Amino acid sequence: MKIAKDKVVSIEYTLRDDAGTIIDTSEGREPLAYLHGNGNLIPGLEAQLEGHGVDETLKVAVAPADGYGEFDASQVIDVPRSQFTGVPDLAVGMQFTASGPEGQRIVTITKVGLETVTVDGNHPLAGQTLNFDVKIVGIREASADELSHGHVHGAGGHHH
Ligand code: ZN
Repeated sequence: MKIAKDKVVSIEYTLRDDAGTIIDTSEGREPLAYLHGNGNLIPGLEAQLEGHGVDETLKVAVAPADGYGEFDASQVIDVPRSQFTGVPDLAVGMQFTASGPEGQRIVTITKVGLETVTVDGNHPLAGQTLNFDVKIVGIREASADELSHGHVHGAGGHHH
């Protein structure tokens, strides 16, 4: 069986940035299971897994546009520190959910000043090339429930 739309695929993976630093890995966890062709993974990774089979290992480099987007400087804004009244120990790296014109998103504090706090609405991996080492460890047909939900149930997927 080869990876194609609506197959359930299990992968082991390690994700590194261009400097070789590990950003995420499935090592020490169960493999990640996803429903191929349903937007479960970033598009650039899914596209390069298509057509491959079990036990294959791949090196996949995903450009920012096919990953978490280009870095958008207009998403970095200063807000008055008074908006964070009630948040103890404001610190760089803290994340909040913010509501904006495109719905809710995660913003990260990148600078804490006396009067203002700088928040960055970019995805933490925006602007980065994503370097994946992937091993395909399983491919199976999806169940009718999985197809209607658009994601995998059970091992490595959703439990509900
Ligand atoms: Zn479900």
